[in-house]
Amino acid sequence: MSRIVYVNGAYVPEEEATISIFDRGFIFADGVYEVTAILDGKLVDFEGHCVRLERSLGELKMPMPVTAEELLEIHRELIRKNNLTEGLVYLQVTRGAADRDFAFPKDTPQTLVLFTQNKPLVDTPMARNGLKVLSVEDMRWSRRDIKTVQLLGPCLAKMEAKAQGKDDAWMVEDGLVNEGTSNNAYIITKEGTIVTRHLSNSILHGITRKAVLKVAAEAGMNVEERPFSIEEAQQAAEAFVTAATTFVCPVVEIDGVPLSGGKPGPMVKRLRELYVEEGRKAAI
Ligand code: PLP
Repeated sequence: MSRIVYVNGAYVPEEEATISIFDRGFIFADGVYEVTAILDGKLVDFEGHCVRLERSLGELKMPMPVTAEELLEIHRELIRKNNLTEGLVYLQVTRGAADRDFAFPKDTPQTLVLFTQNKPLVDTPMARNGLKVLSVEDMRWSRRDIKTVQLLGPCLAKMEAKAQGKDDAWMVEDGLVNEGTSNNAYIITKEGTIVTRHLSNSILHGITRKAVLKVAAEAGMNVEERPFSIEEAQQAAEAFVTAATTFVCPVVEIDGVPLSGGKPGPMVKRLRELYVEEGRKAAI
């Protein structure tokens, strides 16, 4: 079914949406993106995504292409035009189209593209059954805190996991887990402490991560922000990942070792419920 998408100020059927072959997003992956979940036709954690977008752009010396208020209105209009109740809005900003040159062009209009995806987020097989993960060496660049569209490293990692019959990969550096291919990674120790890598340039500063850690603290759960190894993760009581459209998703196997009896554990289930409840309540 054809969607209405947004391209540089226009709402058009997806078949009619075009951008230049000289777009620097296409030539250099010179662009950043955001993905916002939609529940009940409303945006979850929109403000956090907007703040991170501005930060990613700033790190690449780009301004916001439109104001935060205008962005909100574009998201809402797309939700309305596509009758979306559950799914996501994808947004991408690039430095725009210019003759190919590594140096940034001056005064080139940025490209702004948004589209929706209609899909169930709450009731999913992943949430019911959990994920099997494979550890792989992290081959990405060193500014993973910037949400750029250069995602080939994670794509290859995910394909390696799939080739081995797993669902996702955890990317490891110097023996410690950075994050999943498109999510932040967590373990829950036998003592019930939630452990996740501290924020740095090594990982994306997940918007869901921030919200989940807040929800966990409010529920009286203990949280430690520090790196952990695959060996420590394999000894953990439970494990999970978080991302905007997967929320809190259980991990039930790491490199062939089952966790919590190979089924989603109780603390992860509780955290997921709490996050979805809070996310729905605060959605705009
Ligand atoms: N880490 C990586 C590498 C990601 O690509 C993502 C999401 O796409 C996340 C973490 C989770 O971030 P968020 O919770 O903001 O979706």
